[in-house]
Amino acid sequence: MGTEAEKESSAPAKGKVYLKEDLCKGCSFCVVFCPTDVLAMGGRLNYKGYHLPDIVAPEKCNGCDMCGLYCPDFAIFGVRTKRKKGE
Ligand code: SF4
Ligand code: SF4
Repeated sequence: MGTEAEKESSAPAKGKVYLKEDLCKGCSFCVVFCPTDVLAMGGRLNYKGYHLPDIVAPEKCNGCDMCGLYCPDFAIFGVRTKRKKGE
């Protein structure tokens, strides 16, 4: 038993990650620093010819924005999302 707020704080955080492909320079910092392995370098290139990270496990994103903090080109960021009732 607990209050709604307590229940919410014990549930894992949820988030969503956004990639601005045109800004990415393929350094892979976001992949390395994501704590939940949401990202992986893939075979896709942007129009400048840089390798793009793929969002391989979006359901694991907690919105911590570590990817955004480490990206030198402001090409990626994560946001917390609201949990739906019962999650
Ligand atoms: S950290 Fe930024 S520039 Fe580097 S691969 Fe990730 S999105 Fe691209
Ligand atoms: S917001 Fe956090 S969990 Fe989500 S992709 Fe970025 S570093 Fe990974």
